[in-house]
Amino acid sequence: MLEVKTPEEVLRLIEKEFIPCGLSETVLLSEALGRVLAEDIKADEFVPDFDRSTVDGYALRAKDTFGCSDAIPAVLSLAGEIRMGEAAEINVPRDFCAYVPTGGAIPEGCDCVVMVEYTEDYGDGTIGILKPGAPGMNMIFRGDDVFPGKTVLKSGRVLSPQDIGALAAIGRILVPVRPHLRVGVISTGDELVSTDSTPGPGQVRDVNSPMLEALLKDFGAEPVNFGIVTDDEKLLKEKTAAAAENCDAVIISGGSSAGVKDAACRIIDELGELLFHGIAIKPGKPTILGKTGNKPLIGLPGHPVAALFVAKLFVLPLLAQLEGRKMRSWPVRAELAESLNANHGRMQVNACCLEEGDGKLKAVPVRSKSGLITQLAGADGYLVIGRDLEGLPKDAEVEVYWH
Ligand code: AMP
Ligand code: MG
Repeated sequence: MLEVKTPEEVLRLIEKEFIPCGLSETVLLSEALGRVLAEDIKADEFVPDFDRSTVDGYALRAKDTFGCSDAIPAVLSLAGEIRMGEAAEINVPRDFCAYVPTGGAIPEGCDCVVMVEYTEDYGDGTIGILKPGAPGMNMIFRGDDVFPGKTVLKSGRVLSPQDIGALAAIGRILVPVRPHLRVGVISTGDELVSTDSTPGPGQVRDVNSPMLEALLKDFGAEPVNFGIVTDDEKLLKEKTAAAAENCDAVIISGGSSAGVKDAACRIIDELGELLFHGIAIKPGKPTILGKTGNKPLIGLPGHPVAALFVAKLFVLPLLAQLEGRKMRSWPVRAELAESLNANHGRMQVNACCLEEGDGKLKAVPVRSKSGLITQLAGADGYLVIGRDLEGLPKDAEVEVYWH
C-alpha cells in the first residue's frame, strides 16, 4: 500500500524541501520574453517624463471654464498648437487655451484638457468651450506610470509581453534572468521502443519522453534525453545517477508502482532521500518524489495521461520553486481586498496582485488607466466577475487565474 499525500500536502512539501536557486545571467530585452526575472527591477526615471493629454482637445485652466455650457460657452483665445514629440513651450496666459493632441505635452499653467468634441473653433483665433473642465481632467501626470525608485517588476516573474513593454518604457535593455533549468528525462519499461521504430508484438512506442520534453521546453526548461532503459534495476540506477550528476532535476517515467519490476522508488531512495510515494489524485497515484541535495528525483507513472497531469500539476510548480518563480497550476482562491464595481451585462476581467495577510491570501485589484503599462505588468493574475453581477464586495471569495 502506498501512503499517499494530498495534492495540497505535495505543494507544501515542495516549498519546504527545495530552495530557490540564486543564479542569474543577463540577456537582451529582445530575448527576455518567457524568462524568469532574477532581481527586482526598479525605475530610475519618470514615466511619462512630462504631463500628457489622454485626448485630442484644448489644454486650459479649469477655472476659466467654470459655469460654461452649450448655451453660454466660455470663449478663450487660442495661444497655439502643441506638436507631438515636442516640448510644450507655448505660453498660455489666463483665458487662453492651446490645442493638444492625444499624448501631447500639457503647457505650463494649464491643469486640464477639454475634449475637442466639447469645443467650437470660431475661426477668429478664439475657441468656444461648451463643457467646464476640472483640474486633472483627461491628463496623465509626470511619474503616474513610474517614478524613480518604484519597483516595476518583482524577481520571479516570468516575463510576459506587458512586462517587456514596462521594461522598454524605463529603458532597461539588459535584463537579469535565471539560467534555464536542465532536466534529465528517462523512460523505463521492457516494452518501450523509440519513436522511430515499429513496435513488435507486445511493444509500444515511447510517448512520455517526447511529450515531457515538449512540456519542459514550453515551460522554459532545457530537457536532456537519457533514452529508454529496460526494467533492469542496475542499469536504471546508473542512468538516473548520471542524469542527476548532469542536470538540475531528473524525471523517470514508468516503473513507479509498487510491483516487483517497479524499481524507481528503490533507486530514488538509494540515490538520495525519498520524500513520498503516492499522491491522492486520479490518474497519477503512483508518483514518487525524492531529492539528492537540492535536486529533485521524480518518478512518474508510465501511463502517458497520468504522467502528463502529474507533470503539469506538480512537476512544473516544483521546477518553478527551483527558479524562485511565482507559479500555480490551478486557480488560486483568495479574498478580495477591496470592493470592485463591475459593468453589469458584460463579463469583467480585472488584473490583480496576490498578497499574504493574516494567514489569508488577498486579491488586490489593479486599478489602471489604459495608458499605464507598468501597473498591469506588476500584476500576478486576473479575476473574472460574471456578467450577471454588479460587482463584488470586499472579502468576497474570488478565483485568481495566473498570467
Ligand atoms: P508502468 O508505470 O511502468 O507500470 O507503466 C504503466 C503503463 O504505461 C504500461 O501500459 C506501460 O506500457 C505504459 N508506459 C510506460 N512508459 C511509457 C512510455 N514512456 N510511453 C508510453 N507508454 C508507457
Ligand atoms: Mg513498466
